[in-house]
Amino acid sequence: MRQVIIVGSGPAGYTAAIYVARANLAPLVVASSVEAGGELMNTTDVENFPGFPEGIMGPDLMQRMQEQAERFGAEVLLDDVTELDLSGDIKRVTLGSGETHEALAVIVATGSAYRKLGIENEDRLSGHGVSWCATCDGFFFRQKTIAVVGGGDSAMEEATFLTRFADKVYVIHRKDSLRASKIMQDRAHNDPKIEFVWNTAVTALHGETALTGVALTNTVDGSVRDLDLDGLFIAIGNDPRTHLVHNKLDLTPEGTIAVKGRSSLTSLPGVFAAGDVIDPTYRQAVTAAGSGTVAALDAEHYLAALPAELLAQAVPA
Ligand code: NDP
Repeated sequence: MRQVIIVGSGPAGYTAAIYVARANLAPLVVASSVEAGGELMNTTDVENFPGFPEGIMGPDLMQRMQEQAERFGAEVLLDDVTELDLSGDIKRVTLGSGETHEALAVIVATGSAYRKLGIENEDRLSGHGVSWCATCDGFFFRQKTIAVVGGGDSAMEEATFLTRFADKVYVIHRKDSLRASKIMQDRAHNDPKIEFVWNTAVTALHGETALTGVALTNTVDGSVRDLDLDGLFIAIGNDPRTHLVHNKLDLTPEGTIAVKGRSSLTSLPGVFAAGDVIDPTYRQAVTAAGSGTVAALDAEHYLAALPAELLAQAVPA
């Protein structure tokens, strides 16, 4: 049995791992089989993480965080958690491999998942012209006409990045103003390949084997028109990934895991949560990292107060 298992390997999970490992508690990090490193693996330049004045590529940053955690004794498993048993003093974490690992404390740092438009054919055309990741799929759209849906920083970042490949990038947004930060807006506005389509929702996806176009509905007057497209990138935000803890931990009305005050304490003792899965508002790499620190310190504090007989069963004791 471990003292601490961390579920998730974004900035929150790895920062928690660095702190827990430096406390000599040799945490196990269940990093996911396909999404290890979390959302920053799908990002290009990260320009706002302190300490990198020239910026750093998202995957490089995550690689460094992983190495830093491993250097102090964290063990990283590239597997997925399929089941969490969190109710007793001893928590059980079951993995896709079928293995079950036990721990006295669990830190849930499962982040958030891309939001979908929720329209017909979205899943069927995913990977066939419909994508949620410009850095993964942008290369396939050289000299093509594509669109990005959304009005936040993600949409601006994706659109700007995609102009490296595509001839034309529409940004389709349901309002007439953007939510994105000014610097990201300016970058998109100044790009000659980007054209904004305001007050517009994507309401249908056309194409049999691959996307050929979309139906656009004007959100002001309800008029509908078709737009031919080779690709559609959906960048409309994320939802907290809480499926493992539904009916186990209290959630907030926004759907994040509820924590007490500024701490990482969830509704169950010995279970801590950090990062995007508790944060409907800020959702930055650096705030997630800070949140991972809080969870690590809370977990250490919790362990320190456990009865010696229980602690003696864990490795390292
Ligand atoms: P946001 O929640 O900030 O923005 C989502 C956008 O998608 C909004 O414009 C929203 O519209 C729109 N939207 C939401 N749901 C739908 C829907 N069903 N149909 C159509 N449009 C929809 O998410 P982001 O992913 O852009 O950003 C998340 C966080 O990450 C933010 O804090 C952001 O600052 C940060 N970030 C920072 C980056 C950077 O600094 N380099 C890069 C990327 C993200 P509406 O405005 O009408 O609500």
